[in-house]
Amino acid sequence: MADYLICGGTSYVPEDGNTGAQLFATGDGLTYHDFIILPGFIDFTAEEVDLTSALTKKISLKAPLVSSPMDTVTESEMAIAMALCGGIGIIHHNCSPEFQAQEVMKVKKYKHGFIRDPVCLTPHHRVLDVFNVKKKHGFGGIPITEDGKMGTRLLGIVTSRDIDFLDPNSDKLLSEIMTPFDDLVTAPAGGSLDKANEILQRSKKGKLPITNEHGELVALIARTDLKKSRNFPNASYDANNQLVVGAAIGTRDSDKHRLELLVNAGVDVVVLDSSQGNSIYQINLIRYIKTTYPELQIIGGNVVTAAQAKNLIDAGVDGLRVGMGSGSICITQEVMAVGRPQATAVYKVAEYARRFGVPVMADGGISSVGHIIKALALGASTVMMGSMLAGTSEAPGEYFFSNGVRLKKYRGMGSLEAMERKDTQGSAADRYFHGEGDGIKVAQGVSGSIVDKGSILHFLPYLVCGIQHSCQDIGSKSCSMLRSMMYAGELKFEKRTISAQREGSVHSLYSHEKRLF
Ligand code: IMP
Repeated sequence: MADYLICGGTSYVPEDGNTGAQLFATGDGLTYHDFIILPGFIDFTAEEVDLTSALTKKISLKAPLVSSPMDTVTESEMAIAMALCGGIGIIHHNCSPEFQAQEVMKVKKYKHGFIRDPVCLTPHHRVLDVFNVKKKHGFGGIPITEDGKMGTRLLGIVTSRDIDFLDPNSDKLLSEIMTPFDDLVTAPAGGSLDKANEILQRSKKGKLPITNEHGELVALIARTDLKKSRNFPNASYDANNQLVVGAAIGTRDSDKHRLELLVNAGVDVVVLDSSQGNSIYQINLIRYIKTTYPELQIIGGNVVTAAQAKNLIDAGVDGLRVGMGSGSICITQEVMAVGRPQATAVYKVAEYARRFGVPVMADGGISSVGHIIKALALGASTVMMGSMLAGTSEAPGEYFFSNGVRLKKYRGMGSLEAMERKDTQGSAADRYFHGEGDGIKVAQGVSGSIVDKGSILHFLPYLVCGIQHSCQDIGSKSCSMLRSMMYAGELKFEKRTISAQREGSVHSLYSHEKRLF
């Protein structure tokens, strides 16, 4: 006899998998590795999946991706690229308030296609200086201005053709070899990129300087950029059509001055950067910001429990940053014995915060598209990444070689190296010490390196496309639908044993190459 039941028609579907609530009911702390999402039904294309997500109560992004405020991850170049691809970058604060505000301003002033801070030289520089610039930055078209800076009178330009047949060590003055201003084709400031591109194409030159009515250099356009110029239909803009940008600050009294400069520079959102955000210092600062700059959006954190989240929500935050001890460079859980496995932290905080309409950002421990989708499926609206974005050409720092591999530095903001960065009035240490003076520093992070990943402008579209395909497998047409499916109990999860995890990754091969896109 068959020992199965035949239930009328095809309408019967047995219960299978666990809801989010069931998955986290046991009290075990879970990481992204410890569970898997069960597939759903597909009746739409991956391209149709809408990734629009809330960063804060008032800011929404077309892609749920945020770059971490770390000094080896986010300065203006990264923030511009993140915003162009639909996400947002948060400028780090391990630098002087003035430098940080200037980085914010660069993002707000960015106009796609215009180079706003080209390397310039003076007529008194020499040929060898051009070769040095070329060696360091890899290009040869250099504007010559009165004092070697942007914003002063343009006197000429030196291109590769001017130096091709010269001795690289030549001390010939650039005034002798440059193409003088009168022979240059320039475009007037204030025009559109399309107009400037048209002039550049007609001129057949490699570079087009943009000057104001006083003949001062305000920008440059490169033919190479024009050739590879692309549209960014999902870019994150504010109401003035400028890219959105965030900045991190600490919770000390001195951070109020930093905040003022950032607000004047046009920052859209501030991230209160504490490893344990449930403190009187952060609560007081949230109240201060809400009365002093009522329009400014605030992301509080970091938190990993509903009780921590409650205090920051009550104080008035517009978003929460979740994670303690899950970062790739992090030794917090090891040294302080405090923190929480990241999947549990995201689920618990998001489940509480949604009652108050406060979006949650899952911060740390993301090392694949799969981790991003898991964070979103557990209730996060966005993910913040460090190691995923470090090592790209837009991350701060120079590349170096070790054993023939091209690398960039990546370090925790709680590493001794970052906390001891004295040159720039940085305040990385403030993230880990609450109101104490310069006592013994207890490191909560390490310093390391990451393999060259190329440009973020290629990497982010891969992440976006990967998230869309994953949503399609799950049967969810948008990020918000993913969350509602989870809270409705329609999205099903399953725990993974150690052997299930082994089975789920590449195995049984002698060797393999892992190319992702
Ligand atoms: P990742 O994406 O796994 O590399 O983690 C990045 C996150 O780690 C950051 O956004 C911070 O929340 C956190 N983080 C940064 N520096 C440190 C540190 O030194 N110790 C602990 N956590 C850190």
